[in-house]
Amino acid sequence: MSSVPAHTKHTKLLIIGGGPAGYTAAIYAARAAMKPLLVTGLQPGGQLMTTTEVENFPGFAHAVQGPELMQAMYDQAKNVGTEIITDHINRVDFSKKPFTAVGDEHTYTADAVIICTGAQAKWLGLESEIKFRGYGVSGCATCDGFFFKNKVVAVIGGGNSAMEEALYLTHHAREVIVVHRRDQFRGEKILQERIAKNPKIRVIWHHELAEVTGQENPKAVQGMVLKNTQTGATQNVAVDGIFVAIGHSPATELFKGVLDLDNDGYIKTAPGSVKTNVPGVFAAGDVIDKVYRQAVTAAGLGCMAALDVERYLSA
Ligand SMILES: Cc1cc2nc3c(=O)[nH]c(=O)nc-3n(C[C@H](O)[C@H](O)[C@H](O)COP(=O)(O)OP(=O)(O)OC[C@H]3O[C@@H](n4cnc5c(N)ncnc54)[C@H](O)[C@@H]3O)c2cc1C
Repeated sequence: MSSVPAHTKHTKLLIIGGGPAGYTAAIYAARAAMKPLLVTGLQPGGQLMTTTEVENFPGFAHAVQGPELMQAMYDQAKNVGTEIITDHINRVDFSKKPFTAVGDEHTYTADAVIICTGAQAKWLGLESEIKFRGYGVSGCATCDGFFFKNKVVAVIGGGNSAMEEALYLTHHAREVIVVHRRDQFRGEKILQERIAKNPKIRVIWHHELAEVTGQENPKAVQGMVLKNTQTGATQNVAVDGIFVAIGHSPATELFKGVLDLDNDGYIKTAPGSVKTNVPGVFAAGDVIDKVYRQAVTAAGLGCMAALDVERYLSA
């Protein structure tokens, strides 16, 4: 833990996380006169701050830039009465009421909490992957597949996410090359069958991504260097886009041993709801969702959480 927090702040509702789920929860809660306090963490605005064009968030006839969309959500949350603080929560105690959350700047006590700490796509950590992220290297086929109409793309990975991303991309791309380190997939059999039957998909077994190659002006992916995991031999393959699909990590480290988490570390909620196993603590957005992972679904779950908190506090 970092420095000792200076002040204790009490709020009816503490929202942890400043992405689409957190800001939407804040908008609903503030409009219901709950005077929410939202702590943004180290990435105010969340994952969409790392992208450029968002074409699938309803309400924009033309693509909106990720940071612009998040600034609008921030402004809206603030204008309807949310107190927004840039702080990072390091520790929580949900064993007694009021609930406690300890941040770098303050300690917060709250009658109810909504956790919206999101998730992060896992990356391979290659320098060239970082260089071309947003310029042909992506971690989300649903978000970026549309930009690769009739192009050739690669999907890196061998689990369910990789197979689902590959199948989704066949709706847009001319060819989808799946690159996997081993000689068989790890995911569900039904997905493996669909992959095998799809004429647009080619699998390159026993290979890993060694380097992303591309041009500078304008920055764009043009190919990849693949390394054989058995022989070490390398080959160049021309592609227009690369989707890294090696999984996501939910930001739930501080809830381990505090809330029920599933095997992948996502916060467990009651079926069809945003209620955690602790009454009064709710969770919304990518931190509970490993299936859809979209800004609009995160926002929807944030709305559900705020409405549930209202019922909880007035009960
Ligand atoms: C490159 C990229 C492009 C994308 N493109 C699209 C797209 O086009 N359309 C679409 O619908 N979706 C897109 N997505 C997915 C979308 O961004 C996510 O589904 C959405 O942001 C999830 O929202 P969230 O509020 O659950 O969490 P996040 O956006 O992940 O926000 C999490 C928040 O929690 C905070 N936080 C984390 N830990 C702590 C802590 N300990 N204390 C305090 N705060 C904390 C973070 O600082 C952050 O503010 C994209 C994602 C990426 C990475």
